[in-house]
Formats: sequence, C-alpha cells, structure tokens
Amino acid sequence: MSLDGLHVLLTYRCTFRCDHCFVWGSPDQGGAFTKASIDAVLDQALDLGTIHSVFFEGGEPFLYYPILLEAVRASAQRGFQVGIVTNGYWATTADDARVWLEPFAGHLDSLSASTDELHFANRVSPEAQHILEACRALGIPADLIVCDVPQGPGQPARRGAVVEGGPILYRGRATQTLAPKVPSLAWESFDECPHERLDDPGRVHLDPMGNLHLCQGLVMGNLFERPLKEIVAGYRPAKHPIVGPLLRGGPAELVRRYDVPHAEGYADACHLCFSARLALRARFPAELGPDPMYGEAAS
Ligand code: SF4
Repeated sequence: MSLDGLHVLLTYRCTFRCDHCFVWGSPDQGGAFTKASIDAVLDQALDLGTIHSVFFEGGEPFLYYPILLEAVRASAQRGFQVGIVTNGYWATTADDARVWLEPFAGHLDSLSASTDELHFANRVSPEAQHILEACRALGIPADLIVCDVPQGPGQPARRGAVVEGGPILYRGRATQTLAPKVPSLAWESFDECPHERLDDPGRVHLDPMGNLHLCQGLVMGNLFERPLKEIVAGYRPAKHPIVGPLLRGGPAELVRRYDVPHAEGYADACHLCFSARLALRARFPAELGPDPMYGEAAS
C-alpha cells in the first residue's frame, strides 16, 4: 500500500457548524487527542515507514492549542512534513495571528486556512488574510481552501486528492443541508467512487477514537486496538464489506449488493454513498462509524 499521508482529526469540535462539513464539526461535538495518544500515533506512523506527511485538522485544531503545538513539534522531530488546516477563527488581527503562529515557525511546512461564504460572510475572510500576512512574516508556507457555493452535480474529480476547495462534495452534513437544494442524477449513474483510491489509499484520516478512515465514516481499522502496521498489512480492499462493492461498481453497487432502500436521484456519488452507508451502519458497526462522523454527538 502506498500510504504516505496521515490526516489527524485532532478533535471533532469546531467553532462553526458549516453546511458542507464532511465530519459534522460543531461546538456540540467532543473528543480530542491527548498528548500521549498523539505520541503513540506518531510512533506508529514512523514505524510503518511509508508515511511522509502528517496533517492536523478537525473540527478546529486550534481549539486545543497547546496539544496542537506539541503535536506539530513532535511530528517535525520525527522527520514528517507537517501541515495544519484551520478555519482561522483565532486570527483577529495580523499581529495577533503572528503571536499565535510564532511558536510553530520552523516546525510547520504548510498552513491552510478554510475560508468561503459557507464559513464566513466573505469568500476570503479577514481572518484568512491575517493568517496569510502573519505566515509571510514568519516564513510559514500558507494557502487558502475555498469551497464554491453549490451549483449542482457533475463536478470534475481527481481521485485520492486532498480536498483543496473547489466544488462541494455531498458527504457528511452536506447530505442534509445542501444536497436537497441542487439537481439530482439517477442513482444508477454513480457507478464508481470518483474521489478516493480505496484500493490503494495514499492518505487516511485518523480520529480521536482511533478510527482510521478511508473516507469519512468508512473505517479500515482502529489504531488503538491494532497497530497501524498490522491494519495496513491486513487490508484486503475486495474483502472489506463496504469497499468491495464500491470498487466493483461504486455507490450504486453498494445499494444493489445490500438491497438498500433509496431515492431515484442523488446530488453526487458521495450523496448516494453516504446515504447508503448510513442505512447500513447497524449491520456493519466496525466499518461504518463512529457516531460523530454520521451526525450523532459522541457518547
Ligand atoms: S463518500 Fe463514497 S463515493 Fe464519495 S469519496 Fe467517499 S467512498 Fe467515494
């Protein structure tokens, strides 16, 4: 497996409750990595030998500032390329942003600020501008993640790419908030996963409960129960009860394989996939979870 990127969801908690959030981030969500659990994860990532980059995201990772700082330093010390994705709520002025970011200088290889009309009143928020200015001064490479307000289905996709903004994907909360407002296509037309390399993932997401996600809510194993090396070595995509059908014929095949009740049309492949997975959760609790990834507050 060519797994080389680990995206750590430091927490599901967020200052915002965006309509397009893949992971249902909100102030009501809980769960966060501890320093000890971060260190254990980084050691496992190092032990695997193929991971080159570690990103910290959420939720909003700056809500756990001291742990985030420790995590970034610990990652850099182990030789990983390190990135952070933030909504930038904390960047009140460029001077303040510099104070927040100064301790990261020299340890951080990229900082991405999410900003668009679904996060803020402006497409490029003042907070995002403050971050860019502070990063320029500190020598931290920075960019913006800007999502387009939904126009409808038929978006181009680059499989396995980190989400860099652009069109909305109808996963997570967007299946409820945005998908009903856009035109739909026939469910049978979604005959492949257009975004993830499920057969050979280049990057995975790890949540505070230890779940390793191939796509948000689609789990390949729990790193607090089995070492990463073992999970990766034992991954058989064709035998995974959800990945297998997705590889054979996309979300439409997942629906057919388990006879999932469905509507006639969906906004995109992810909308059908997420809806089918939601319906299958009781049958496959180990592969489809945890609760926060499906819009339920963590117990
Ligand atoms: S939601 Fe389903 S179709 Fe969309 S990227 Fe994830 S696995 Fe692929």
